[in-house]
Amino acid sequence: MTSSVQLPAGRLPTPLVAAPDERLTRHGVHLLLKRDDLAHPLLPGNKFRKLRPNLAAALEAGHDTLLTFGGAYSNHLRATAAAGRLLGLRTVGVVRGDELARRPLNDSLAAAAADGMRLHFLDRAAYRRKTDPEVLAPLLERYGPACVLPEGGSNSLAVHGCTELGREIGAAADVVAVACGTGGTLAGLGAGLAPGTRAIGVAVLRGGFLADEVLRLQQDAFGGRRGDWRVDDRFHCGGFARTGPELAAFTADFAARHRAALDGAAVEPVYVAKTLHAVFRLAEEGAFPPGTRVAAVITGS
Ligand SMILES: *Cc1c(COP(=O)(O)O)cnc(C)c1O
Repeated sequence: MTSSVQLPAGRLPTPLVAAPDERLTRHGVHLLLKRDDLAHPLLPGNKFRKLRPNLAAALEAGHDTLLTFGGAYSNHLRATAAAGRLLGLRTVGVVRGDELARRPLNDSLAAAAADGMRLHFLDRAAYRRKTDPEVLAPLLERYGPACVLPEGGSNSLAVHGCTELGREIGAAADVVAVACGTGGTLAGLGAGLAPGTRAIGVAVLRGGFLADEVLRLQQDAFGGRRGDWRVDDRFHCGGFARTGPELAAFTADFAARHRAALDGAAVEPVYVAKTLHAVFRLAEEGAFPPGTRVAAVITGS
């Protein structure tokens, strides 16, 4: 690295803690929580693993600006803003939905702005074409040359960064369950798994496109499919950030039962709640042979 700027130090490997639950042990399933939410205080979980190699590359290339994309509640935008502040890089967040420009910022965008991120709101049609030159070039014209990171931060470097998550778990689990938003975390985790361990990606968006997306990310990063993984599209509860009474009740109950394993932290509702809920439903369906150790990745808090 040519720059003297320090990349944010993380606390890796993150802890893997047992969370025995009678509703699972009844089916012979042992639950473990991979506390990736503890990876870094400002860049939790998979966002730290995905950003770190991209930040190193951006500094190496001499960039002083990061430009990236996300929805109004994007954890990736927020993490990128925090990373920019820590490293002294300027950040530009391109946000889906131009109607948001006329409203007060929500907490997530306000936190990004407080970290110095400049927010640029795009209407949904333009946002869909955000990487086309007609949309991207004017943005770079306006904000200056920048290292451009994709939505959710999922590119090849990010996928490589997430292989370490699989290696940290190693042979300590037979199945790893992880939320799938853009799929970069599953793509890397799957490739880093120990032989004999498989991963289940829990899609948090509807549409059934995530398995193809994870495969595409693995092809870009490794030249082909790697590891034993699949995506389950049944647990998104109607779509991104959607919930329902059953999921909400499950989440509150889980946090109460597993206060110790979670250090009293709440269960992150958009990704982690759906992942944990999926594990319980799969166990009820008999998807895991007795004796299976299932590690659920707590990707954020
Ligand atoms: C971003 C995020 C995910 C999704 O990761 P992808 O690599 O986009 O699939 C999962 N959990 C949390 C808490 C996140 O912030």
